[in-house]
Amino acid sequence: MTEKKRAVKPIVLTSHPSARTPVSYPIQWGERDPKRRGPIIGTLTTPEHRNCMGTHSGAYSVYRALAVAAGSLDPLHVPDLTNTAPVDRIGPFDSWYEPKRIVSMDPWGADVGEVFRDEIKAGVNIQPTIAITRAHITMPEIVEEVRRGGISVDGEIVGANGDCKVTKAAIEPVWFLPAVAERFGIAESELRRALFEHTGGMFPELITRSDLHVLLPPIGGQTVYFFGEVASIPDLTKELTIRIHDECNGSDVFGSDICTCRPYLIHGIEECVKTAQRGGCGVIVYNRKEGRALGEVTKFLVYNARKRQEGGDRADMYFHRTECIAGVQDMRFQELMPDVLHWMGIKRIDRLVSMSDMKYNAITRSGIEVVERVSIPDDRIPADARVEMDAKKAAGYFAEHGAPTEEDLKKTKGRGLLE
Ligand SMILES: [Zn+2]
Repeated sequence: MTEKKRAVKPIVLTSHPSARTPVSYPIQWGERDPKRRGPIIGTLTTPEHRNCMGTHSGAYSVYRALAVAAGSLDPLHVPDLTNTAPVDRIGPFDSWYEPKRIVSMDPWGADVGEVFRDEIKAGVNIQPTIAITRAHITMPEIVEEVRRGGISVDGEIVGANGDCKVTKAAIEPVWFLPAVAERFGIAESELRRALFEHTGGMFPELITRSDLHVLLPPIGGQTVYFFGEVASIPDLTKELTIRIHDECNGSDVFGSDICTCRPYLIHGIEECVKTAQRGGCGVIVYNRKEGRALGEVTKFLVYNARKRQEGGDRADMYFHRTECIAGVQDMRFQELMPDVLHWMGIKRIDRLVSMSDMKYNAITRSGIEVVERVSIPDDRIPADARVEMDAKKAAGYFAEHGAPTEEDLKKTKGRGLLE
């Protein structure tokens, strides 16, 4: 496109459509027939088809805008979806047809190429919000466990080199605002106003377009790793193990020892592999909610504040230091987290590899039975992460052998900042 052409192109204000014509593909959230439910159209190539606010790819939509600005991406590019269909089928389940059961993702998101084939053929730019593929993963701790004999090689789930075969799904957030608001016990208008005002006015349609109720928020999504037969997940005669893991780049990727994130993730993967080898399925849900969804800058500020406070890093001040900086202890909001479990048709979790009372409560309140909660083995907790573990146990985390008292918390101390 030439500079001249670009300069004369009018700006399309999504907040004020040229004609107040009804949305051409209305969304009827929870409708049983996906054709009647309607596709989620957040693409920008054909503005007249759009039926939601925001656009695809979550936080990465900003990079797409940058690519267009830099001249490296044709803004009218329509993805060629040949051979991109999911490798494993998930659903549909009855939970997909309850408008309030799944409110923060599109259960049909992986299947758009199939269920909206006619619309796509007719030129409607409908994009999947879920992609499902297969992979082999090789993690040093799992390889070591195989070498020590703790996990056996079966040639199917675990290969001779300690690599594991997985199915994995990537999920973009799709929020049906009336039901999201209801989860938090607030009015949709309150939610829309806060989302508009506290993102610096990012989506004016939140205020001006009362005919649109679905938002593709510019936030991180989820990745789900499946060990074993995906088809066995809703089968109540088969064992199901799950870990819900919230992103922690410092520990998950770089092995930082101030928290238990990677050791607990590894423990979750081991439990998933063993469940799959017993004929069931193991599932790791990995949520992009870095630093309790406060972000990594806030997290590192908290680390400094914790280690520099009088008396050093102490379990009794663990949550207080976060609250001083962020204003809250946690922004992960487990209210929306069970959606992904209902997408998989889960009714019962045999082994929940998590000690979080917030996650446990959200899951059981959403109608899923949890048979057993699996703690991180004590010998997997890094010394410097005792502060976190004791503080969390005292605050309500699952503690098989009792929670520490206030006096105990004062005694649990971490390493100094410069040590
Ligand atoms: Zn961590």
